[in-house]
Formats: sequence, structure tokens, C-alpha cells
Amino acid sequence: MNLSHIPLSTVGAKTTCPYCGVGCGVRASMQTDGTIAIAGDELHPANKGRLCVKGSALGETVDLDGRLLYPKMRDERGDMQRVSWDAALDKVAGGLRSIIDRHGPDSVALYVSGQLLTEDYYIANKLMKGYIGSANIDTNSRLCMSSAVAGHKRAFGEDLVPICYEDLELADMVVLVGSNTAWCHPILFQRIAKAKENRPEMKLVVIDPRRTATCELSDMHLPVKPGTDVWLFNGLMSYLAHRGARDNAFIDAHTTGLGEALAIADADCADPHEVARICKVDVNDLLAFYELFANTEKVITAFSMGVNQSSAGTDKVNSIINCHLISGRIGKPGMGPFSITGQPNAMGGREVGGLANMLAAHMDLDNALHRDTVQTFWGSPRMADKPGLKAVDLFNAIEAGRIKAVWIMATNPMVSMPDANVVRRALSKCELVVASDIMEKTDTNAFAHILLPALGWGEKDGTVTNSERRISRQRSFLSAPGEARPDWQVICDVAGRMGYRGFDFAGPHAIFDEHARLSSYRNGPPQIDGHSHRLFNLDGLTGMSKQQFDELQPIQWPVARPNNADGAVTGTARLFGNHRYSHPDGKARFVATPPRGPAHLPDEEFPLTLNTGRVRDQWHTMTRTGKSARLADHVPESFVDMHPQDALRYGVREGGLARITSRWGAMVARVQHSGGIARGSVFVPIHWNSQTASDARVGALVNPVVDPVSGEPEFKHTPVNIEEFGVSWHGFILSRKALALDEITHWTRIQGRDFARYELAGRNVIADHSAWARTLLGVHDIDADWLEYEDSTAGVYRAVHVDNDRIDMCIFLSKRPDLPSRAWLASLFDKTQLEEADRVGLLVGQPIEKGADTGPTVCSCFGVGRNTICSAVREQGLKTVAEVTSCLKAGGNCGSCVPEIKKLLVETHAAETA
Ligand code: SF4
Repeated sequence: MNLSHIPLSTVGAKTTCPYCGVGCGVRASMQTDGTIAIAGDELHPANKGRLCVKGSALGETVDLDGRLLYPKMRDERGDMQRVSWDAALDKVAGGLRSIIDRHGPDSVALYVSGQLLTEDYYIANKLMKGYIGSANIDTNSRLCMSSAVAGHKRAFGEDLVPICYEDLELADMVVLVGSNTAWCHPILFQRIAKAKENRPEMKLVVIDPRRTATCELSDMHLPVKPGTDVWLFNGLMSYLAHRGARDNAFIDAHTTGLGEALAIADADCADPHEVARICKVDVNDLLAFYELFANTEKVITAFSMGVNQSSAGTDKVNSIINCHLISGRIGKPGMGPFSITGQPNAMGGREVGGLANMLAAHMDLDNALHRDTVQTFWGSPRMADKPGLKAVDLFNAIEAGRIKAVWIMATNPMVSMPDANVVRRALSKCELVVASDIMEKTDTNAFAHILLPALGWGEKDGTVTNSERRISRQRSFLSAPGEARPDWQVICDVAGRMGYRGFDFAGPHAIFDEHARLSSYRNGPPQIDGHSHRLFNLDGLTGMSKQQFDELQPIQWPVARPNNADGAVTGTARLFGNHRYSHPDGKARFVATPPRGPAHLPDEEFPLTLNTGRVRDQWHTMTRTGKSARLADHVPESFVDMHPQDALRYGVREGGLARITSRWGAMVARVQHSGGIARGSVFVPIHWNSQTASDARVGALVNPVVDPVSGEPEFKHTPVNIEEFGVSWHGFILSRKALALDEITHWTRIQGRDFARYELAGRNVIADHSAWARTLLGVHDIDADWLEYEDSTAGVYRAVHVDNDRIDMCIFLSKRPDLPSRAWLASLFDKTQLEEADRVGLLVGQPIEKGADTGPTVCSCFGVGRNTICSAVREQGLKTVAEVTSCLKAGGNCGSCVPEIKKLLVETHAAETA
């Protein structure tokens, strides 16, 4: 039985990072000690050799701990049992067939993911729409960028991203809207930062309710009131129109719809003072931004989840695009609107029609010619003839019993969906739940009847498309562990068992070829055969052999068939250079965007606005990044970031625990004041789930209202209340062995280098601390090397179990949340032998040695803590990030922590001069 990876080659591979939509090229090299060295691919145009901290840590996340290695099925008692692939595939195919026969094609659904490779995505979509005959396939990309898709389609006639990354460097002004680019798309941010360093006159404007790390390098931050972006951009459109910044020649020749859109913008937003009042920004700052935009030819407006995840997300996107159309700032180097995608292959999913309202190859479900084109090309027995259910509606339909089978692939809707408790109710009553995943235990898999082991990064093989339309190869360099199989193969096997032909592929290269051929099928010059021209076209990539596919270099679509002698294909860096759009008349559309606020406003019962998002070093539900100790160190537990005055008003304290409630659910998190949150708002990260915390799943709180056009939920705006989460004690454990903490009132867990770290809080009264701690930690041997200290008056208790002079586990409890430094204690776990000073320090609850407490991690690459940086700044008079890097290395590798170092420099010097 093979339970460990076997490298497929001794060299490794050039591949692509599996996290965000920047799509960085990665070189993975096998080391003689069995580890994997990770480096940025210098030749990949997206990152040119750089990687952020998540990408750099990829080698630490490919172990097999927790992996789902074999197909499993639930038995009559409800326990999961290992079964053969034949048994599992028969059960999936038979279950789907039986439900379809009884209830029709729309009674089954697929819920897939931007983590899938394009080839997996293509096959899933083909099975559902062309063979089962339903469009009930949606993707978790619905949750992050479907508003951008809808906005693009309304404006351009097709889901098209006009610019390339190089344009960010050519721009004289970059506007980042609703995007903490420094944390969520770090390499893009570093490219912008480098361009700004080379050309300090280049302007960076951030429009975001929060003051994020991205703001540390910006020239201007407009902290808009959540949900008011359309007012701000309608106001900009009106300003451009009436202050001589409209490009009439471009508008007349290449657009339609200005009249209505401008009338709407003028009606509510012509007065900057009124816009500033509604957006709650300083009117002088607003006017300065408008003027800067009007006077800068090369301007890019990049937007991300803060724009998309809204009940007015599509209008927000179009209000941004309108400003670029009215000023003619599109289709030329260094300018244009730019949607930054969240997931590694959200774009690939869009290309193959992974959304319930789209067909493959950028064709539309509601277009009969397109349906005929795809069905004819596939030679399929049927074709879905209406849009399927979008993510929120899809899980509602499962709960209502209209959908009776769901196959979930590479995603964790129990954590990531809004009103996530609906997902719990839906899955618990669904007749057939199939989950394809790399991990065995997830919140969603707990409800599956059948688990199918999938391949993870480093094992799977295919393509992904990044935010600038660049297709890159993800290449396998590790063997499939256990009996895990590629998703495309599993879907093909199920399709075959359901009696469908058309799923016989020799490998991902053959699937990619079919995908590329479909993109160019009936896709000639505009209006040929009545078919509108689609810019998504991979004609130049058709007919590749397996070897050519293996050697495929990163390339941006559209890719035309080569007409040069050597047959070399070239992609397309930037769209709309010819100002031809995909609407039948070739013109772009202004879209009228009447401003409207969020669906639910704060009220007496729920007076605060919840905003959600990512932290710097984690990815989604932490199944992969959570395995890396250095990534976990940066933000070790879930938090609620809020304004200090709100904390005072609602009776919660920094460092203490708070219960956050909405009309849909509740959670518990640690209170923090980053200084970046305006009054009336709170921010909670999305990553924690039932595997990593007792009660920190923020999806359970998020309101399920969606944008009426895109179906994207409003993750950035849920009315909530907050109150102190009263406990009688706080504590933490560092332990080399895993612990079961089900009895503890509140707990969270992260992975340390050679231990797990648990943060705890309890409501129980502990009568005998020593007996309680020994039972919890499983240290029953009375002769064990067990150091303990108790001050019962202060309610402080500490105990350490030492095994062969090495620290094995420690527990610290107190009535108050301010407990000793975990960074210092974690450092003791690296020692093969505790020294006398360490033992004394453990008893007194602080390090004896000066400098031993490095503080919370700031630079994850070199493990440099906050205290170390602040001491060096103070003691050595460091003034710049470069000086900090030269002294401590911090910030000198991936650069993700540079904004935080910059902030620490400012804070430390301010404290010194105070
Ligand atoms: Fe991966 Fe970081 Fe690049 Fe995103 S920016 S693709 S997470 S290395």
C-alpha cells in the first residue's frame, strides 16, 4: 500500500500556484531529503520569479496528513467505510440515474469550484448541460466574481478582461476599489509598488471602507461608507462628462447608451458635496480624486470582492466601466477597468461555462444559436435550454427538496456559503450527497454519502487561467497518493456508467484540445452564419500533441492560428485595441446604474455592518495553508476587527472574546483594533471553520441576499450585533499531540512547527486545576516530569509536561485574556533540551532571557516577530523598510509583509516622540 508521495521525476516541475488569481509561475524541485523546494519561475510573465508568502510555503502543504486517499461510502450505521472505485462510481452513476429517471434532469446538481483545472471544469459542464440536460451546475466562483462576469457581458457583450498586468506598470494612476491587493493578490501589488518606486509620480488611490495594508503605499485613501460605490462612480462619470474629460469621438464611434446612463448619474450624483455626504468621505478628497482621474490619461481601475460581493455588485462594476468608456480610457496601454479574480481558475471556469447561466466557450444558454452550436459540436443527446440555479438558489432548492442529489467538487459550501446553516439543513436532508475532495474531514464532507478522493496541487495536471486571461499549465510532479484520481477522469467514468458517449479522453491534453476546438467552432468573422463573433478563441492552440501540451508556455487568449512560417503562436496581451466589442453591432454599452444601498441596513437590533475577507497568509478554509506553521503564525485565530469606540459602546474589550450575531447565525471571535475600521463596521476573516474552531464560521452570519443580475451574495454587508462572550477563564495549550477539546466552551486550533496551538476559553468553574489539566492533556503518570504553578487568588495556573528534557505540552490558564507570549513558548518546542532558564521562565510565565519574546509573526518567510522589529527600530534608529530588511531580513523575500513593516516604523517612531 502506497501512503506517501512518490516524485514523478527527480527534477520537479514548472507549474502554477494554486491559490489566487494572479496565477504565479512556480518551480518545484525535489530535494534529496524528500522535501520540495519552491521558487518563483523567473520566466513566467505573471510573477517573473517572485512568489508571495503563500506561494513560497507550497512545499510545506503537500503532505498526506488528513488526505482522503480512498473512495468511501456511508454504511447503514452512518459510518464511512472504504470501498472500491467500481463500487463508488456505480453508486454515484446509479444514484444520479435513478433520481433523474424519477424526478427529471433538474432534480440533480453539481456544485464545483474555481480550484478545479479547466479540463475538470469542462467535463463537469459537458456532462451536466449536454448529457444530463440540466444547467444546475454552479461554482463557488459565483461567490467571488460573478458580478464582474455580468458587468463585462453587459458592457462588452462577452466576459472580457481588457487589460494585462503590464498595464498596471504602464499606468500613471491605479485605482484599487474594494481590494486589499497587498494581502489578497500580493504579487500584483508588488508589481504596482515597484512601478511606483521607479516612477514616484505614479498615483495609487485606494477606495475601501477599511484602511488595509494596501493603503500603506497609497497616495490617497477614500474610506467610503460600505455599499456606496455606485454613487461615487456615478459622481465621477458626471464629473468627467461635464468637466471636459469625455472622449466624444470614441463615444460616438464605439459606444451606445450614454444618454440614459449619464441621465441617471446626473440625477443623483452630479453634486460632489451630496456624493461625499452619502459616501461619507471628505468632499475635498473626493474632488481631488475626480480631478486626478479626469487629468490622467493612463488610468486603471482595478476592483475585486469589495465591489463584486454586493447586492448591487453588477451595477458597481458597470459604474466603473462607464467611467472608462466616457473618457475613452480602454483598449490602450496602461488604461482600462480590471477585475482581479480571487481563485486560481475562476477565469478557466468562466471559459468553459462553469456558471449555471452560461454555456461553454463564452456562449449563452439563452441564445438558441449558441445552444445549437454547442450541442452540434458535442453531438450530445440533449442540451439544457434554460439557466440553472445559482449557488444560493441551488442550496435553497436542495433544502426545499426540489434537488435530490448534489455532487460537490473541491469546495466547502458549509463554510463558504452565506447563511451557511441552510447548507447544513440542505445537505442533511438531501437523498444523495457526493463529495470529491483532497481532504477527508471537512465541514461539508461530514454530510456526504459518498467521498471520492481527488488529486491535489503537485499531483494534478492541466491548465488554469489567471486574471489577465493567461493560460498556464499546472503540471504534476508527485504521484497520486492512495487511490486518488483526477476529477476529469472520475466524471468521465460516471458519465460512461450513466450510458453517455463523448467522455472517452486519453488525458487532459485531449480535453483541452476539445475545449480549444469548441472555442473556434462557428466563431468566424462577425455575423457569419448569424453567429456573433466571440473574442474567446483558442484556435491557435488546437491540435496540440500530448508533448506540445506538456510544453505549453503561458499564453493569453485570444490565441489566433499562426500565419508565420515557424508556426509559433502568440497570445493577445490587451483587448479592444481595434475598439470592436462583442455585442452584435460591435459597440460597447454604457449601462445605467441607478444607485441603491445594501439590501439590509443596520437597525436597532443589528446596529453594525459586518464585512468579511481574507487574511494575508491563509487561503479559503485553510485545508492547505493551515498545514504550514509559518503561515499559521501570522494570524493564529479568528478575530473581529472594530473601532475602539464601538468596542466601548458594545461592552467588548480588545483581546477578549465577543459573540457576533446576525439574523442568520452567530459566531465567537477575539476582539482587535487594527486602527483601520470606521465606526459602525466590523471585519471578520472567512477562513475558520468547524475543523479549526468551535464556533468561528462567519458564513453562518452572512446575509443570503444576492445581486439580481449576477446572483452574487452580499458578503460585505450584513447587519450584526456584538456583545461580550462571557467566560470564567481564558487559556491556551501548545501540544505535540492532537487533543480532543469538545467539552471546552470555545476553542481554536492552528498548526505550529512541531505542535498544535489551541486557544481556549471556558464557562465552567475549575475546582482542581492540576487534576483538570492532567485529564485534558492525558498526563496520568504521577511520576511524569510535570512542572506547575498556581496563584489561586489571581486565578492563574500554568503546567508543563516535559518528556526526556524536551517540552511536550504546556497549558496556561488565567481569569484574564492577557496570557504569556506564545511566540516565546513556541520557540521552546524547537529545543531538543530545555535549559534551567527555560524551566524558570515557564514557571514565572515569561522568558528570562532578553529578546526571547519575538512577538507575533510579521515576516513569515524569515520568522521575524513584531517585538524584534520594534526593538531594532528603536535601538538602531532604523528609518526605512530597506534598513529593517538589511538588519533583520524581514521583508526581503516575498515582500508580503512590507506594508506591515512600514506601519510598524510609523507607529514605533510616533511612540518614541510622544
Ligand atoms: Fe500564489 Fe501568491 Fe502568486 Fe497569488 S500572489 S498566485 S497566492 S504566489
